[in-house]
Amino acid sequence: MATLKIEDLHAQAEGHEILKGVNLEIKGGETHAIMGPNGTGKSTLASVIMGHPRYRVTQGTITLDGEDVLSMSTDERARAGLFLAMQSPAEVPGVTNSDFIKSAMNARLPEENNISLFKFIREYDKAVAALKMREDLPHRYLNDGFSGGEKKRNEILQMRMLKPTVAILDEIDSGLDIDALKVVGENVTEMKSDDLGLLLITHYQRLLDYISADTVHVMMQGRIVKSGDTDLMKKIDEKGYDWIKEELGIEDERVVPEKDERILLEDCATKEAFEK
Ligand code: ADP
Ligand code: MG
Repeated sequence: MATLKIEDLHAQAEGHEILKGVNLEIKGGETHAIMGPNGTGKSTLASVIMGHPRYRVTQGTITLDGEDVLSMSTDERARAGLFLAMQSPAEVPGVTNSDFIKSAMNARLPEENNISLFKFIREYDKAVAALKMREDLPHRYLNDGFSGGEKKRNEILQMRMLKPTVAILDEIDSGLDIDALKVVGENVTEMKSDDLGLLLITHYQRLLDYISADTVHVMMQGRIVKSGDTDLMKKIDEKGYDWIKEELGIEDERVVPEKDERILLEDCATKEAFEK
């Protein structure tokens, strides 16, 4: 059973601090959901866990079964069992879906144990059928020209093939119609076991009708400010976030332009137009 532990995590991008002290622990068999207004750092947290080079960790730790995740490359993190289904998966023309996933699977195995082509095709075909994707999926280029829903289903197909120990699904429900959401939900639920820790990032309680969660966290301004059970999510679905802000005395962030930006603003022609 794997444990992902995040302590006092601070991270920035381009000089702006986005994560401001995140604490979270996910154990095998558990499903956690994170919700929160747009721009509060949810996707940043997912990217930082996977080691996206755009973000710089300035404080805190991430460990997987006690191993220091922050010192691993993204590749090593994937091989250690971490997986991210991205909010906006990239299109990679020139690389077929099946080549991509086969390489990713083999990267996790010693060379002499590479998966046999026969076994791979059998598993892949099963996954394509389970995700109700087009049969020519293996030969199409990775996400190239895919609809939003196809991209999301393809992320879950990859998860199915790679069998991670900790999976983060970033807004897997966005852009899915109700039938596709059902397919995704069933596939994820089928994968649940004591060997899988799940982190669902979502805006809507609806996702939890399809994938049940044990704990719900609310993220605001780069921190997890409140945790509870699914009733918390229901309440947010009904009432939004203002009551949490009031309860915790969180003030709206004022975005003050940096000095350089201010000069630019003063120089721009519109200012004169406004003054007329
Ligand atoms: P969420 O997923 O909660 O909507 P994000 O993590 O995508 O939020 O973004 C959090 C904040 O950090 C936003 O204000 C966003 O503009 C900013 N941000 C995210 N990534 C970068 C980046 N690479 N460079 C600069 N700012 C970023
Ligand atoms: Mg996001």
